[in-house]
Amino acid sequence: MTRYAVFGQPISHSLSPRIHAAFAAQLGIDLDYRAIEAGRGAFASALAAFARDGGRGANVTLPLKQDASALCSELSDRARRCGSVNTLARAGDEWHGDSTDGIGLLRDLARHGIETRGVRVLLLGAGGAARAAAFALADAGARELVVMNRTATRAQALAVALGTPARTCDRDALQREPTFDIVVNATSAGHAGDVFAWPLAAEATPTACYDLSYGGAARAFLAAARAAGARVALDGLGMLVEQAAESFALWHGCAPDTTPVHALLRAEA
Ligand code: NAP
Repeated sequence: MTRYAVFGQPISHSLSPRIHAAFAAQLGIDLDYRAIEAGRGAFASALAAFARDGGRGANVTLPLKQDASALCSELSDRARRCGSVNTLARAGDEWHGDSTDGIGLLRDLARHGIETRGVRVLLLGAGGAARAAAFALADAGARELVVMNRTATRAQALAVALGTPARTCDRDALQREPTFDIVVNATSAGHAGDVFAWPLAAEATPTACYDLSYGGAARAFLAAARAAGARVALDGLGMLVEQAAESFALWHGCAPDTTPVHALLRAEA
């Protein structure tokens, strides 16, 4: 039985073991995928021990995505560009790093019929997930990406890395922005239970709003989006399944059918 794992802290809440077990059952693959608790100080040694025990692949989540990138001998283009790694694959004695978050978001948007080509996007946040989302949306043909972040310098750095069609905006200036097609919340503010202040003018109703987080952490943003009149308001559970499917395909060379796994998680949410 081959070994896989997700590393992070906290990690006991992770749905990844369930998702990968469901994919493996569907495709008749025998694997052991478990959650391993490791903070930043313990991650390198925990990953080395996992490799010694036969670990073939790993996902990494908060707060390890940047540390993971430093432990890889090779990075995919998309991981290098967004500066974060969520998927590690063992190649001989080395780890190869990839980032499947961006493609996970695009696939979930597509599943819901949300167009990304030619659209105006407001991106809230400039951390690892925001960067993955931003590059994926730019590659998918978004016409304009406006980045707003609590720490303005990080938003500026992301806009510069993206080049055109990206720029930054502060909260006051957002009030004067015309309507966005999609608003993506890639902040982790919901995890801290912070009050979410809707940033757009009352008449600037976006078509679709997407929060990368899910469960209670997405509640405030989605409620604000619906109150603002957004036609579609989605949480990141679908992205979680889709980014996992991309990791699974990288490791096993075959893509699972995500539809029954979306249904399974929604039924339990
Ligand atoms: P990260 O690198 O730590 O970035 C966090 C971002 O949130 C930063 O832009 C930070 O702003 C902002 N932020 C944090 N607290 C805030 C607050 N109280 N008010 C306003 N902004 C705040 O985290 P990440 O890896 O990008 O993850 C971001 C979110 O995406 C998390 O909720 C995570 O669970 C979710 N996610 C979901 C998936 C999925 O598959 N669905 C995948 C990846 C991530 P500063 O720069 O000012 O600190």
